Amino acid sequence: MVNRLPGYTLCAVATSEKADIVIIGAGFAGAATAFHLARAGRRRVVVLEQEAVPGVHSSGRNAAIIREEGVDTVLRPLMAEGAAFVRRGELAEFQRCGVMLLGMGDEVVGPRFPRARGIGRWCPNDGTVDVARLLGGYLSGIDVRFGTRVIGWSSGASQLAVETKTGEITCDLVVNAAGPWAGVLGDLPLTAMNRHLFTTTPIDWVDPGWPCVWDTDGGLYFRPESGGLLLSCCDETPAAPGDYAEDPAMIDELAGKVAGAQPDLGALSIRTSWVGQRVFASDRRFVIGFDPRDARVFHVAGLGGHGVTASFALGRLAAELIGRAGNGEEPSLAPARLL
Ligand SMILES: Cc1cc2nc3c(=O)[nH]c(=O)nc-3n(C[C@H](O)[C@H](O)[C@H](O)COP(=O)(O)OP(=O)(O)OC[C@H]3O[C@@H](n4cnc5c(N)ncnc54)[C@H](O)[C@@H]3O)c2cc1C
Repeated sequence: MVNRLPGYTLCAVATSEKADIVIIGAGFAGAATAFHLARAGRRRVVVLEQEAVPGVHSSGRNAAIIREEGVDTVLRPLMAEGAAFVRRGELAEFQRCGVMLLGMGDEVVGPRFPRARGIGRWCPNDGTVDVARLLGGYLSGIDVRFGTRVIGWSSGASQLAVETKTGEITCDLVVNAAGPWAGVLGDLPLTAMNRHLFTTTPIDWVDPGWPCVWDTDGGLYFRPESGGLLLSCCDETPAAPGDYAEDPAMIDELAGKVAGAQPDLGALSIRTSWVGQRVFASDRRFVIGFDPRDARVFHVAGLGGHGVTASFALGRLAAELIGRAGNGEEPSLAPARLL
């Protein structure tokens, strides 16, 4: 079986080496998987990352909210396990500021976040995390080859070769944790959806200790950030992997949602904005497991809007499934779903 990014042909192989497991991508999916494989004593694990530093894509473009409440019941156990790890603060500082989910529950939001309106469910254990440190913590001590773009892999009867522009690495297993590129690399039906985030200039009435407010009816969320607010209008626009073009209409979209659902926030002055990509399978559940077409390919993909929160649990599950298969044991879950 050959999987290769479209538009690439192999150039001359400059180097060739051997590893046990090659992980494609040093975002939260790949980093947490490498972290747990290392904890399980797996030595020859190599992470290949196309960028020069970690966190260039979704793992560095998110809202940093750790939220286990109000999510799909199938994802919930992984979210709860991941959130519990982040709360312990072993790798990165966690701020237990709480999350108010408007549109469910019966608590008035005002006392928690003056200027916010609505009735919601208070989730006191949720909060925010230092994402750069969390990602860096997972990657600490891991053999990561930055600036190394994987073109594809070929899986023959006797060996699996992961191909890069500078050479190939033969291995027993390749882990596809390529975020927005996981679909095209692994031939999986995944969709990358663009979402904008905005920060405002400093606002004198914002208390940095206020919680995150998620207004599910109004279709927006906001939380304190750098003396002002970080907001999203929860937009979802399908886009090509790595296409972070901002849509100027989204500022109006945000302003309209604030005016309609949270008018007491007033007129906000936007300081910065950026786009990140959330990657989904059609049912919005994670794709994690061996590829039914090739048992030497493992996917950790389709993390949607929960990849920071669930990362520890996803990496633990991936390492466990990989370890069990290596011992000839039955995996505890079915192979990854090709939805
Ligand atoms: C706007 C926004 C807000 C979000 N807010 C939250 C939140 O508050 N809380 C939460 O839990 N989650 C949130 N998320 C979701 C979370 O950020 C993602 O689920 C998570 O970062 C996905 O991690 P990943 O490793 O799958 O993907 P990525 O971070 O995209 O990592 C994939 C890596 O693979 C590399 N790669 C791809 N192709 C190749 C190749 N061919 N060769 C080598 N390397 C390759 C890429 O360079 C990249 O570094 C948010 C996402 C967005 C976009």
